[in-house]
Amino acid sequence: MSHQISVMVHTPAHSGIGGALTYESDVMHAPGTLVRVPLGSRELLGVVWDALAPHAATEQPSLRTADDTSASHNPAAPLQLRAITCVLEGVAPLSAHWRQLVQFAASYYQRSTGEVALAALPSQLRDLSTEQWARRLKRKPKAVAAYEGATQHIPTPTQEQAQALRDIAAHKGPFLLFGNTGSGKTEVYLRAAESVLEGNPQAQILVMVPEINLTPQLEERFRARFCPQWGADCLVAMHSSLTPAQRLKNWLAAHNGEARIVLGTRMAVFASMPHLQLIVVDEEHDPSYKQQEGARYSARDLAVYRGQLEGAQVILGSATPSLESWHHSRPATATEPAGRYLRLAMPSRVGQGALPQVRRVDMNRQPYKTVFSSHLLQAMRERVTRGEQILVLLNRRGYAPVLHCTDCGWKSECPHCSAYRVFHKLDRTLRCHHCGFTQSVPRACPGCGNLDISPLGRGTEQLEEHLAKLLADVRRPDGQALTIARIDADSTRLKGELERQLAQVHAGAVDVLVGTQMIAKGHDFRRVTLVAALNPDGALFSSDFRAPERLFSLLMQAAGRAGRDAAMQTVSPCEMWVQSFHTQHPLFEALKQHDYPAFAEQQLKERAEASLPPFSFQALVRAEARSQEAAQGFLNAAREAGAAWAEELLVDLYPAVPMTIQRVANVERAQMLIECSSRKALQRFLAHWQTELHTVRNAHRQVIRWAVDVDPLAI
Ligand code: ADP
Ligand code: ZN
Ligand code: ZN
Repeated sequence: MSHQISVMVHTPAHSGIGGALTYESDVMHAPGTLVRVPLGSRELLGVVWDALAPHAATEQPSLRTADDTSASHNPAAPLQLRAITCVLEGVAPLSAHWRQLVQFAASYYQRSTGEVALAALPSQLRDLSTEQWARRLKRKPKAVAAYEGATQHIPTPTQEQAQALRDIAAHKGPFLLFGNTGSGKTEVYLRAAESVLEGNPQAQILVMVPEINLTPQLEERFRARFCPQWGADCLVAMHSSLTPAQRLKNWLAAHNGEARIVLGTRMAVFASMPHLQLIVVDEEHDPSYKQQEGARYSARDLAVYRGQLEGAQVILGSATPSLESWHHSRPATATEPAGRYLRLAMPSRVGQGALPQVRRVDMNRQPYKTVFSSHLLQAMRERVTRGEQILVLLNRRGYAPVLHCTDCGWKSECPHCSAYRVFHKLDRTLRCHHCGFTQSVPRACPGCGNLDISPLGRGTEQLEEHLAKLLADVRRPDGQALTIARIDADSTRLKGELERQLAQVHAGAVDVLVGTQMIAKGHDFRRVTLVAALNPDGALFSSDFRAPERLFSLLMQAAGRAGRDAAMQTVSPCEMWVQSFHTQHPLFEALKQHDYPAFAEQQLKERAEASLPPFSFQALVRAEARSQEAAQGFLNAAREAGAAWAEELLVDLYPAVPMTIQRVANVERAQMLIECSSRKALQRFLAHWQTELHTVRNAHRQVIRWAVDVDPLAI
């Protein structure tokens, strides 16, 4: 007797096939079973699926056959089902929880379930031929090498750590562990993990980090803590720099339950872990948790969903939480109930120097075009002469330029929004990325008539060279010339280059490190006593309402790099220098006090007044075409098509605007913002609109690509 089986496969995004296809099989395979199936002349990996209401409702697997899509052109044609080729031996079926996670992610982020499911599996499951797979299965597992790393001294928890751990033991969560840099958050993760491992011989733990190559210390700390007791293979890594073979091996170890801890980047949120009991999201505010292509999911948000789905505890940790998480963890007030996360605070630093003193330099009082103010330069010279290290932080990436008059302080504000209009060099216009309001760039400052109006935040390209000249005569204590290094996306493009450069800094070979946000993350540079932020102002007046949040967290993190070694502070206290034209800005006031809550309160007030997230929900549709008209034409037609439904659901559809980086490789890019005060209503709108987008797309052949980004991070 033969069965009809629904199989999820990855079909091209715009093929119109939702993802699940129906096949025939002699045996009834359990949902979650990995199979190979024919599609056209190809053979694909697929996952046996079941109808998991309610998310399955948008796809109707039984209407599609594996032959092609012609069934939809000729509905009368009898369904000719093809047979499953084979089952992938030796892999237990994926759990219902895993399938539900995938299905939720697909529906929430407006992608096909098949795409999300197959992207979440290691490529070798797909790429190995049946023979190769058979050989892979026969391979005997290597005898596990004993863990040879140094065993770790296990510290007694501080009072704050102990309190956080008691709260984690007593409550369900999710938790927001709001702990200062150096407050010992990692120790809390380790102990929370320990008690889970000890409480249940099968329990598994997922630990997520933003970028693994930026935090090699964290993996080592987990290994040192757990490998002596649980074996060298109790922990596996999951991130994009693994080879396909390593990734398969680690994925299988997690899927089989052998690996007790999975440490990985955003992709690890989809790891198959049948006994998952705890999820840690370290540096939960980090933008790299948001996938920027394909299914644009937020691994942090999915982690919270997954925790709830599987009954696993979730700990989000940060010294500068995302404003979303901060808002969700608000305590109850007299009139309002508490948010749905529980906030755990650890304000003190453990056994380390004090946080650096923040010094603000008013650049209005410096000579025109000063890069390093004379006071800062003097402080740097003194410190390197004593053998201390310095970090110079550039903030040149990711912020759209806003026009600015240095005479009267005029900025290219939008008259209709609480946002600044962005300078588009290409056609010399100022455009609001919120409402689309556009004007050509004024010849002179509208405020005072000054002819010299310019984009904020320029002129940092030659910084490393410039600095080398300024410090050419300075010597280290050993009489050697200074070593100045630069770490940014350009200098680390080659594989392994970042690790090499970081190792140099750690070894003390570098005296001055110049870099972008990459150098501010969790490194432990022991000898750093001065951190300087040169040109942070762009983010204060960015068209992207999240820019101040990112700047604050970047500066707090950078400040956290200084003074990690109390012994270094005997000569002079650590300092963080900020050079700005707006030293009185509330962001810098809060920074000076190391006061994240004050900063968050001020930002949330602004967000509430402007109905921005977390007080509203957003999605973007982006489109690319050879011309701006074509890209915008598609978006505006889609807007038209969705207008009635949007009105009913109280969803705002804004007109299409060019993207900040309007043209890339001769392709014009445009975007359109969708906003709604209800997440549910926005989801309902998007689900409905998706079909219309496909239809409109078919009438706009010039569009090369388009995609929906739900909860976008950059507007
Ligand atoms: P965070 O992740 O919050 O920045 P870490 O967990 O890295 O902080 O801790 C900072 C430093 O303090 C580390 O060197 C860590 O070993 C040490 N540390 C953490 N907790 C304790 C403790 N209870 N007693 C002594 N040292 C601790
Ligand atoms: Zn002016
Ligand atoms: Zn506007």
